[in-house]
Amino acid sequence: MPRMKIYEHYSLKALNTFGLEVQARYFCSLPTLGGLKTVMLWRREHPDLPVLFLGGGSNMLFIADFPGMVVQVRLAERKVIAEDQHYVYVRAGAGENWHEFVRWTLGQGYAGLENLSLIPGTVGAAPMQNIGAYGVELKDHFYELDALDWRTAELRKFSLDDCAFAYRDSHFKSVEPGRWLIATVTFRLPKQPVWKTNYAGVSESLAGKVLDALSISDAIMTLRQSKLPDPAILGNAGSFFKNPLVTVEAFAAIKAKFPDCPAWTQESLVKLSAGWLIDQCGWKGKRVGDAGTYAQHALVLVNHGQASGVEIWQLAQAIIASVQDKFGVCLEPEPQVIGK
Ligand SMILES: Cc1cc2nc3c(=O)[nH]c(=O)nc-3n(C[C@H](O)[C@H](O)[C@H](O)COP(=O)(O)OP(=O)(O)OC[C@H]3O[C@@H](n4cnc5c(N)ncnc54)[C@H](O)[C@@H]3O)c2cc1C
Repeated sequence: MPRMKIYEHYSLKALNTFGLEVQARYFCSLPTLGGLKTVMLWRREHPDLPVLFLGGGSNMLFIADFPGMVVQVRLAERKVIAEDQHYVYVRAGAGENWHEFVRWTLGQGYAGLENLSLIPGTVGAAPMQNIGAYGVELKDHFYELDALDWRTAELRKFSLDDCAFAYRDSHFKSVEPGRWLIATVTFRLPKQPVWKTNYAGVSESLAGKVLDALSISDAIMTLRQSKLPDPAILGNAGSFFKNPLVTVEAFAAIKAKFPDCPAWTQESLVKLSAGWLIDQCGWKGKRVGDAGTYAQHALVLVNHGQASGVEIWQLAQAIIASVQDKFGVCLEPEPQVIGK
């Protein structure tokens, strides 16, 4: 097998949705798992340099050039691998575009992933933070994944339990970050789906329409397009902060001072709306140079054109500090901040 081409000083501007002008010291694109041999050989010559797996670059903020090897994962596959009385099992390669994969499953008549339509990025990155939207999370339809420890070439299957999925979190994000290259993900899609349309705005946009997976997907696409900036036009990484979880006591103290504070109970904790907290601090639509928050959604940090990653990160720090000051709540960034 021919060695994959390794590029040097490679621009990542088109490969991160903030549109930041950053470079990878080394870069290669991985269409098959066999290509990892090239990365391992490179690693032997550069044992001290880091490796970063890249999907669509829609959940990353680069605040510096990357000093090591960026590996763009392009493994392709879409396949029904099994079926039983209740479920269809569908496997996808990590490099598949997430939204195209979702629409493909719906087109084959397999429901389940419709609420996750139009989330940018790849299939392989989706388990990283257990992507979620409109009342559904990846974990709800996940079966298993294959991942490779790129240092030893050990290939391992991870079950639902192994992945330790939680709100915008997983084993791969917080327990062993950077160790596993996710190669394929298998979903278990129900033959008798239960529609989830009670999320704000969804049932309204479906009024008068035939209720099926494709109409739900269409409605969610329309809603997302009306609420979120298109990264091709305005650089962003979607929600920049997680919705914070606080104790019941902490919430009672916040509620006493801010009676309108929206909240949802989550097991023994209370989930707050990060967007609302940021909005209350006066950040919605604010701009500092070319870094800013989106005018319609304070939770989305945007690059108006020439902002650097450092400027966006400084804005994020200022937002974190003011929410901490006003509410005593610590916001946590959702994207991976690279170069911190
Ligand atoms: C407009 C917009 C809207 C969004 N809406 C949502 C939303 O509703 N819900 C939601 O959950 N997210 C949302 N996101 C965030 C983002 O789309 C998701 O997190 C997505 O899964 C990231 O995919 P990616 O391929 O772009 O990942 P990248 O940004 O390339 O990578 C993200 C992380 O995954 C790692 N990674 C990538 N591929 C692999 C692999 N094959 N193996 C191992 N590690 C890997 C990277 O190293 C990095 O740590 C949104 C982003 C944007 C720009």
